Order: sequence, then structure tokens, then C-alpha cells
Amino acid sequence: MAFTSLQLHPSLLRALKELGYTRPTPIQTDSIPPALAGRDVLACAMTGSGKTAAFVLPILHKLMDKPRGKTRALVITPTRELAAQIVEAINSLAVHTPLSGASVYGGVGMGPQEHAFRSGVDIIVATPGRLLDHFRMPYAKLDALEFLVFDEADRMLDMGFLPDIRRIIKHVPAKRQTLFFSATMPPPIAQLTREMLKNPVTINVERQAAPATGITQAVYPVGQELKSALLLALLKRGDMKEALVFTRTKHRANRLAEYLVKAGISAERIHGNRSQSARTAALAGFKDGTYRVLVATDIAARGIDVEALGHVVNLDVPAVPEDYIHRVGRTARAELKGEAYTFVAPDEESDLRAIEKAISKRLPRVTVPDFDYSAKPAGRLEIPIGERIAKIRAEKAGQRARAAEKAKRRDGGGPARPAASGSSSSGSSRRGSRGGGRSR
Ligand code: AMP
Repeated sequence: MAFTSLQLHPSLLRALKELGYTRPTPIQTDSIPPALAGRDVLACAMTGSGKTAAFVLPILHKLMDKPRGKTRALVITPTRELAAQIVEAINSLAVHTPLSGASVYGGVGMGPQEHAFRSGVDIIVATPGRLLDHFRMPYAKLDALEFLVFDEADRMLDMGFLPDIRRIIKHVPAKRQTLFFSATMPPPIAQLTREMLKNPVTINVERQAAPATGITQAVYPVGQELKSALLLALLKRGDMKEALVFTRTKHRANRLAEYLVKAGISAERIHGNRSQSARTAALAGFKDGTYRVLVATDIAARGIDVEALGHVVNLDVPAVPEDYIHRVGRTARAELKGEAYTFVAPDEESDLRAIEKAISKRLPRVTVPDFDYSAKPAGRLEIPIGERIAKIRAEKAGQRARAAEKAKRRDGGGPARPAASGSSSSGSSRRGSRGGGRSR
């Protein structure tokens, strides 16, 4: 099927042609016609399926004939990265139209976002928390809203956004068209769809989520402490030109990026403790090839869309099968080929089995022929939290002992505490004035 048979506006068809999209993906074929016809849509679609264009195209088409200056569509999405990416998709699909989109998410100033509300930008793409912040302000009225989209709803549930979503619904008109996308359909999400959608067209709902076809998946059994060395070996052998690498924690992401940079591999990291500008710069650098490796934690990586990304590496086995499917979906997007490697330490075998059960497939085990599996580990990626706390405590105790010792020496060997406080004249005068205040 060609895009032309979907009856989309010629300006949109022109943009699609320039973007090199020749045929609609299955989710686009299934959801664009009912969405154009004004129906609510409930779609089980995972990232990489082309779901963004599946909701953006019908909305843009329907907004073409409407007067401008009022926000008519709101897209709610779990992460900042995903929001930024959806706005990017809107603006590139709308390039030959007067329409545009703006993002609303935390970690950046409210000013430009307030302007987007006040000027009535056509489409707002928002994360739940920041959107609710704006809703407290009088300018954030969405009375003219006609389209509401939920993207990656199951992820919003995982991130604890369900109560926020229910609050958001109270701020938008009841008479609207709702398009709802979720990779999986856990019971709370199914309940939400029953409350929010009117007689929806359901697409692919029965299908068990599975990674896109075109992905070669493999498991690399390796001891926990040799994982970074194995990754380095695969990069050095040229098995991977570039890779998006997932780690379980922010700390591990930092340590791994440091390790790779020390070994001469250009690498950056993206996780929740980094500022929005650092995250954006890291992603841009990875996209333009400045960095060969982008190390990410799950949440931060939602929605990372790197065209033709060849490799995804799970340095740690994801604890939940859905996370595996999402992560692996970063590669082989829109039916390209990709490879997903998962490093499995002996204590992660049971999590791996749960994943294999969910995708109904046993993944092949791969041993790298010239890698020394019995090598002495270069160092641990992560010091266990107990050890880290003990180290900090020991350092603090040392500092206190040194300070006491110093004070003792300064006061000629007298008791450390009274002499130290008595030696500060400003300290004693402060105490004096506070004492006076209390006695009044
Ligand atoms: P999504 O699932 O929306 O995150 O899209 C995944 C990727 O597929 C994005 O990089 C899109 O630019 C790309 N894409 C979406 N629709 C098509 C299409 N019909 N043909 C080729 N690529 C597409």
C-alpha cells in the first residue's frame, strides 16, 4: 500500500516523500483511516513501529482546515526525550504546512512553554508533571482541544503517572477524539482505556508484545566483573560500529562511560541525574557520530530514536521483560536490521528466562572466541551501596579526628571543643545576641 491511498493532505504527502517514507508501516495502515474518520483508536504498538506518525499524520491532516491560534491537540508522553522527539516528528511532517508543535516538560524554563500556551500552538506534547504545573496557571486553558493522544501509556503506568493522567483528563474537554498507544496492556491500562475511550477501534490488542522483526538477538554469558571488558572487546574487534548500551543504574552508566573513554572509545551517558542540556547534547553527539557509544539507564532512554541504530547492548539483564522489548526496540526501527546483545551474569539467568518466556523464544548463547573469560577483572563498575556508605563514614570520621587534633594543637593541648568555640569572637557575639533575644 502507498501513502497516497490514505487520502492525506498533499502537503503531508510531500513531506513523507522527502523523509523517504514510501509505504505506511502496519500500525499506520491500521490506525490512520479510523483516526481520519474521527474514531477513537486504541493501539498496541511498540516503539519502532512508526506509531508517532500513526497519530501525528491524521491530526495534522484534520488541523489543516481549522483556524489557527488555539491548541487543538495534546500529546501526553512519559519522558522528556520522547516529547522532544515527537515534536521533532511533528515539525518535520508539518514542514509544508503552517502547523507546528511545542514541547512541555520539566528541567527547562517555564517561559517558552507559557508562550506556547498563550499563543495557542497547534499541538502541545507534554510530560504529565510539568503539564500539571502549567494547569495551575490561568493561561493554561485547553478549551479548544479536539485531539488527545496518550503515547507509551504502559510506561506512564510504570513511572507512577496514572494519578497525574486522571488529573490531566479533568482539564481537557470531554468532547474530543482520543488516540491511545501502549506497547502492552496491563489491567490498570485496560481499565483506563475503558474510562477514556469511546467505542474505540482496537488495533493489535491481542498480540503479545515482541521485539520487531529484523532484530538479531543474542545472549553473551559473562561474569559480572568482566562485562565492561567484554563490551570493550566487541567494540575493538569492530563487531559494533556504534552502540546504545543500557545499564541498570546511573552509577554504572557513569562508571562504564568513564571506562570506555579511558580505553579510547568516545562515549557519553544519559540518565536522570544529568541536566536536560547535558542529556540533549549527549544524544545529539551520539546521533551525529561524535560518540560511538551512548550509555543509558532505562527511563532516560525512553524514546531515544537514532535512525539506523545497529546495536543495542544490555549490559545488565532488564528485570522486567517489557523493558527488554522496549530496549531492543531501539534498534531495527521501521523495519531496518539491527542487533541486540544481552550480557548475562550467572545471577541474572532467572531474569533472562522470564524474558525468553515472554518472547516465546530461546535466545542463542554466544561465546567470543578470543576473549579471556578467566581474566582478572579490571575493576568493579559498581561498588555495592553498603561498601560505599562505609567508605564515606570512614572518611568523615577521619575528617572529624583531624579537625579535633588541629584544634587541640592550636589551643596548646587543652580540650578541643570548648577552646575551639571560644576562639571565635563572631561566634560568641552571635550567641550573645540570641541569648538576649530569648530572655526578652
Ligand atoms: P516510532 O515508532 O514512531 O518511534 O518510529 C520509528 C522510526 O520509524 C522513526 O525513526 C521514524 O522516522 C521511522 N518511520 C516512521 N514511519 C515510517 C515509514 N512509513 N517508513 C519509514 N520509516 C518510518
